[in-house]
Amino acid sequence: MEQTLSIIKPDGVSRCLIGEVIKRLEQDGIRIAAMKMLKMNKAQAQGFYAVHRDKPFFDSLTDFMSSGPIVVMVLEGDNVIEKNRTLMGATNYEEAAEGTIRRDFATDIEKNIVHGSDSRQTAEFEIGYFFNRFEFAV
Ligand code: UDP
Ligand code: MG
Repeated sequence: MEQTLSIIKPDGVSRCLIGEVIKRLEQDGIRIAAMKMLKMNKAQAQGFYAVHRDKPFFDSLTDFMSSGPIVVMVLEGDNVIEKNRTLMGATNYEEAAEGTIRRDFATDIEKNIVHGSDSRQTAEFEIGYFFNRFEFAV
């Protein structure tokens, strides 16, 4: 059993896509083990995306990620890191496969609706960034 962090980004929340994203996850057999809505400030977004601090898109990305509420979820299931990344589609929605969340809804390489951890090591850091052990329903 594996866990991963999923985020519905500010564009997904403001465009009323929370239900759509969760429906796709659940229909794929993924279990939501923890979930909440919050708004990051700039420093919190910079900490979350610290791995990208030297990238040219870092300042714009952290402005965007702190621009409005997000939904953060811990997803659970066999191979869930890869399963979630498959449902999300490629970072650049123009290159994302048909039927993926980003292909269907993203408007921009930055405003691409969802985040998903890309490895077990990243998932552990990202889950710990938002959740403590008392926030898991089961
Ligand atoms: N991003 C961007 N420009 C780029 C690459 C990425 O604005 O050229 C943003 C985009 O929102 C992406 C996030 O930065 O989801 C993190 O980038 P990463 O390469 O980790 O993509 P992801 O893992 O989200 O597919
Ligand atoms: Mg990434």
